Amino acid sequence: MKRTGIFFTYFQGERLKDFPGALEGLLDKPNVSYYDAVYGSRDGLFYLEPVAEHLLLKVHSKPMIESVKRTGDYQSALYSAGGTVQAAEEIHRGDIDNAFVFTAFGDHHAGRDFYHGMCYFNGAALAIAMLKEKGIKRFAIIDTDSHHGDGTRDIFRRDASVLHLCFCDQDYSDQYGKIDIKIPRRTSNEEYFAKMKQILIPRVEGFRPEYIFWEYGFDATKGEYGDKGINRDSHIKVAGLIKAAADEICKGRLIAILCGGSGRDTATYTIPRIISVFAELSDTFQLAECCQHITA
Ligand SMILES: [Zn+2]
Ligand SMILES: [Zn+2]
Repeated sequence: MKRTGIFFTYFQGERLKDFPGALEGLLDKPNVSYYDAVYGSRDGLFYLEPVAEHLLLKVHSKPMIESVKRTGDYQSALYSAGGTVQAAEEIHRGDIDNAFVFTAFGDHHAGRDFYHGMCYFNGAALAIAMLKEKGIKRFAIIDTDSHHGDGTRDIFRRDASVLHLCFCDQDYSDQYGKIDIKIPRRTSNEEYFAKMKQILIPRVEGFRPEYIFWEYGFDATKGEYGDKGINRDSHIKVAGLIKAAADEICKGRLIAILCGGSGRDTATYTIPRIISVFAELSDTFQLAECCQHITA
């Protein structure tokens, strides 16, 4: 059974109003650890740490950091990205195997010298900068948010140690391991899953990363602002595929980072189920029939 860390920060906004309550059923499991930015001193909980400024400077420019300071969201942004860095540290230390990181602001529209879409700092890039200092050499980032991960692409553009696989609105591929896979509007669940299984996962397997990051945006769900036509169960099926790949390739080292998506129902439905897939507790939440074979 895998040991899963949940890294939680508190937010404004509608989509995560049911959390952390919606995690009930997972938090008391012996292989699930909960890291909390506010209530970390309570029994059985761990503190979530903000990201350190010296690490920020390894990824983002000083003017960009100064500009985030002027938004009024700087402290929250430090905790938001800090969850991903801490998840990577805990996995590296061997305290957990995989993680789900809630973000207040994040992640993939934060580049070296720019940000937009409320993505102030790039948690995956910061975690990779930290892991590189510890001698880790190969990383894969899978981005299933509906939009192009332009910030992540900018940071790792010429860095062949990072495979960046992005489901978005274009097809692209270069010699540095930067790949976009176009997901048209009105993609069926079957087509979506087939692209993940037949195009994306073999790329990850061929690259042999030591860590896998998954930018989990659910804005491609039907009815969302990045609607590609897929249903919410597709995200859970994808979680099963990515986890199986991580287990096979890199001893299960996998960090999911919450990206875009606005629907409260979809967040409340998918996130606990994804975490239960990661922690191999799939009987905790009833899954729709379509994905039971994935998590069995
Ligand atoms: Zn998006
Ligand atoms: Zn892309």
